Amino acid sequence: MGKIFIGLGSNLGDRGKNLIAAINLLSQSMKIEAVSSIYETEPWGEPNQQNFYNAVVNANCGISPFELLKNLKDMEKKLGRKKDKRKGTRIIDLDILLFGKEIIATDKLTIPHKQLLLRDFFLEPILEINSDLLNPTDNIPLSEYLERMPVQLRTIVSKIESKDWEQAIDKVLSKK
Ligand code: ADP
Ligand code: MG
Repeated sequence: MGKIFIGLGSNLGDRGKNLIAAINLLSQSMKIEAVSSIYETEPWGEPNQQNFYNAVVNANCGISPFELLKNLKDMEKKLGRKKDKRKGTRIIDLDILLFGKEIIATDKLTIPHKQLLLRDFFLEPILEINSDLLNPTDNIPLSEYLERMPVQLRTIVSKIESKDWEQAIDKVLSKK
């Protein structure tokens, strides 16, 4: 398993294609060790937008968390993310969820991700990749946080079956 977990999200345009483009781009600058299924989830806050497609990539790379954040922002731009017209809508969102056991709390970067323990679309795909993972700030299993999550916070509608996604995963994993 890699030390980095990156959350991917898209709710504009062809969401499946956007996620595939994102893992292909990620695989050019890091070693991808595992990829979750795609989850369809209801958007937070703003109603009347398309549901999200979310997934998690597990990877290794030799750069610092701050360099990784910069690279992810560059990739979001390259994948067509603009200043979003409507709050919450985006072609692609790439978030650092975990970076090994590192704990960082700055204005620019918070690791573990600020919403890690409050979002089923982060926890469920992470646990799909490693069901034993602990929250680095208190060493409580992430599975406990997911079990305890109240229904009102839950957003996952379904897992998406996609041959294209499976093919894309096979391709990036064969580069390992
Ligand atoms: P969202 O919070 O919905 O992901 P953005 O993608 O626009 O919104 O991110 C806003 C800012 O959050 C980024 O400019 C970045 O500096 C900051 N940020 C803080 N912690 C993280 C993290 N762990 N991963 C990604 N961005 C982060
Ligand atoms: Mg983001």
